[in-house]
Amino acid sequence: PSSMREVVVEIPKVYWSDIGGQHHIKDKLKEAVEWPLKHPEAFIRMGITPPKGILLYGPPGCSKTLMAKALATESGLNFIAVKGPELLTRSNAPSVLFFDEMDGLAVKRSGEGSGAVERVVSQLLTEMDGIQPLTNVTIIAATNRPDIIDQAILRAGRIDRILYISLPDLPSRKEIFNIHMKKVPHTDDIDINKLAEITDGYSGAEVASICREASICAMKENIHAEFVSMRHFESAIHQVKKGITDEMIAFYA
Ligand code: ATP
Repeated sequence: PSSMREVVVEIPKVYWSDIGGQHHIKDKLKEAVEWPLKHPEAFIRMGITPPKGILLYGPPGCSKTLMAKALATESGLNFIAVKGPELLTRSNAPSVLFFDEMDGLAVKRSGEGSGAVERVVSQLLTEMDGIQPLTNVTIIAATNRPDIIDQAILRAGRIDRILYISLPDLPSRKEIFNIHMKKVPHTDDIDINKLAEITDGYSGAEVASICREASICAMKENIHAEFVSMRHFESAIHQVKKGITDEMIAFYA
């Protein structure tokens, strides 16, 4: 089907500084992608090949897509969102090939009655194997369901690094509030520490929604409002519900 061929090339404008927290993940991604780009000879000298692909997994709304985009922006790579197994090897280097919802594409082959799935997965494997190391094409795959991904995809030489993108902790939530607050004119009674404290368990996407909701809240009160204040944030927090439960987090452990 033609949807399998859908490939979107974009040059994103997402910077590392747009992502709150997750410093360890940013470092890992830089190491895996920027080092081989800048110093390919070092890898050859040391007799190792850089990772061909990296899987980012974890609960929804915690910056998997942002990470892939920032990596492309900051390393000067094309960002290519891939929706199917085709065209991988024909993609313009240097690039990041991004598979959102990898689980939808490379679901475990069950053996029986899965002919179509079987074909998609084996085509994907073939295409991945066709990407030579040190050619400046990096696969970044994202999923909320690492448990259902076909293990063959995760073999060394294909997607050979796996990184868990967790819910933001307290310092990360402060950073995320600060990032999203930058665009919002606000009064100086805003207490970021308190906002971060009372949003334990919220995803980055939900923190972003709280910031949007706070502006709407101020507008509802007065459509001519010029500033958003602390009480608007507090009522926004009541309106934005936590979508990720403790059971969901335990599932990733
Ligand atoms: P999904 O699994 O649902 O695809 P995701 O992990 O890919 O989610 P993103 O698409 O990267 O999540 O994040 C969604 C939005 O949430 C971002 O566009 C951004 O506004 C906000 N967001 C999430 N995490 C962060 C963060 N760490 N810093 C700043 N903004 C964040």
